[in-house]
Amino acid sequence: MNNPSQTLSDRLLALPSLKTVINAFGLDARKSLGQHFLLDTRITDKIARYAGDLRDFNVIEIGPGPGGLTRSLLAAGCRHLVVVEKDDRCLAALAQIKEIAGDRMEIIHGDAMEFDPVASVPAPRKIIANLPYNVGTPLLVRWLGMVAEQGNSAFDSLTLMFQKEVAERIVAEPGNKDFGRLAVLCQWLCECRYDFELPPGAFSPPPKVSSAVVTLSPRKEKLVDVSQDALEMVMAKAFGQRRKMLRSALKGLAVPADVLLEKSGIDGSKRAEQLDVMTLCKLAQVYEKIRR
Ligand code: SAM
Repeated sequence: MNNPSQTLSDRLLALPSLKTVINAFGLDARKSLGQHFLLDTRITDKIARYAGDLRDFNVIEIGPGPGGLTRSLLAAGCRHLVVVEKDDRCLAALAQIKEIAGDRMEIIHGDAMEFDPVASVPAPRKIIANLPYNVGTPLLVRWLGMVAEQGNSAFDSLTLMFQKEVAERIVAEPGNKDFGRLAVLCQWLCECRYDFELPPGAFSPPPKVSSAVVTLSPRKEKLVDVSQDALEMVMAKAFGQRRKMLRSALKGLAVPADVLLEKSGIDGSKRAEQLDVMTLCKLAQVYEKIRR
């Protein structure tokens, strides 16, 4: 029974420990679902803090699992929380949290790849998640498609845990070995911030590699007005063979490489990784205009 004089945070704190929940509901981690759970409240609270003030936002958490981060997001005072979990074994554990959160929390049993956060959750929205590694990047690309259409009215921010290597590719700058298609796509649409790293031992069970949290804050307007389709097509070529000069790398597009480079004012002997995001996006914009 809820004691009405207790705050939500007090009631969340009174829940059984995550270890107890995992044992009670038999939530032995499944590799196929990318399950690496965070059991330390200090870490889940830290993720919530990096996502900013949650009080005016409807938060979407993908893959709540046994609910560690879920508890922190509610304790941080998010206006409403929608959690999307594929593993039906986690539902009873999440229902225990919902008993305390009431209408402030909604549990969706389903695949995040099929869930449309913009259509399902009213704005203003933030996505906050310790993502399953196997679908982390495809999910991000899907959400970026929503940002490409709606700018920052799709999401105020996305605070996401990835494998460290993916996080580094998101925030990478020109000249860095990690700078490539993912950096261009993310930075075309969002300000990208590298928040903090976690060693494998922070998770149960520990993954093979380190992880890192990044926050992407969608811009109101794209850096350059070009379609995602054209940008991805040109970047796939430009970074497909990283060591090649652009005049060779861009061969095979619907516009001859030398014409494209000349119209873009780019020296064809440069490699894609030497150009900044704005120049690369403009290259795709010129491609899109000529191709028409
Ligand atoms: N948020 C929990 C935490 O931090 O301890 C669990 C994070 S664990 C890395 C990833 C979670 O995503 C698991 O609970 C897993 O079952 C869930 N998951 C995996 N694939 C999913 C999908 N396609 N849609 C929704 N949830 C998924």
